[in-house]
Amino acid sequence: MYTNTRTGVILFKKINDLNKWLDAQRKKGLHVGFVPTMGALHPGHLSLIHTSKAENNVTVCSIFVNPAQFNDPGDFEKYPVTIEQDIALLEEAGCNVLFLPSVAEIYPMGLLHLRHFDLSYLETILEGKYRPGHFQGVCLVVDRLLDIVNPNKIYLGQKDYQQCMVITRMIILTGKEGKIKVRICPTLREADGLAMSSRNMRLNEKERKSAAGIYQCLLQIKKNLSKGNLEKIKEKAVSRLIHSGFRPDYAEIADAENLNIVHEWNGKQPLVAVIAAFLNDIRLIDNLQLTGEIS
Ligand code: AMP
Repeated sequence: MYTNTRTGVILFKKINDLNKWLDAQRKKGLHVGFVPTMGALHPGHLSLIHTSKAENNVTVCSIFVNPAQFNDPGDFEKYPVTIEQDIALLEEAGCNVLFLPSVAEIYPMGLLHLRHFDLSYLETILEGKYRPGHFQGVCLVVDRLLDIVNPNKIYLGQKDYQQCMVITRMIILTGKEGKIKVRICPTLREADGLAMSSRNMRLNEKERKSAAGIYQCLLQIKKNLSKGNLEKIKEKAVSRLIHSGFRPDYAEIADAENLNIVHEWNGKQPLVAVIAAFLNDIRLIDNLQLTGEIS
């Protein structure tokens, strides 16, 4: 059975109950938009809900802190959980359904010997390189959620640029392309430019002040961009991050369409700057598309 929460969003914890409800909606010819999240919702997440609501009859949000995608157990344990507040925010945003499954519901056979996805080079660069196994975990859970929700469209944030590419590839690999449309939505930022993220809740006052340094660094890359060798710009970005108190994993410039790392720029290739850096034990990521045609 499903229950109406105090706020009016329909909450499902069991796959069977959600399936029955969604089947009834589909029989009425209604379109379903799906926003997968790990909760601790902020306006970035809610912007995906709003876009889905504008484009579908029914919007389903899932909240599931997916153990399979955490390569660092400490990060998993400290991941913020704010479920009561999340429900209130979903209600305010007019989200129709919250799917809140248990780990056993998503992984009934446990977390061992699960399916492997051929993500090729996407798994060996940037987030793939620095968070081994992370994208396999992302694919596992999103594939499972897509099988459960079977939406017309899935809504993803550009904040997780590489994740958008990985999920798009997974959808092709699993034959869901054509049935499910991927919609990628812009990154929402705080007033000082810090990309909104659930992990920002863990920043103390001093860290929070420094955190916008990542966005400043992305802007500087964009400003300094010129045709030819890009290594100096990248080195400068790394130095700037270190100087601002970060421990960078990477500050890179890549092809915006396939994420291949770019060393020499022809002035036309579409580029994206991508950064991952720690502030103490909190790892933040961000990216900025750099327009082409800059000389
Ligand atoms: P998460 O809960 O971090 O797994 O994020 C759930 C979805 O929200 C993902 O598709 C993210 O890319 C997206 N998202 C997270 N932060 C932002 C943001 N600041 N702006 C837009 N989308 C975001």
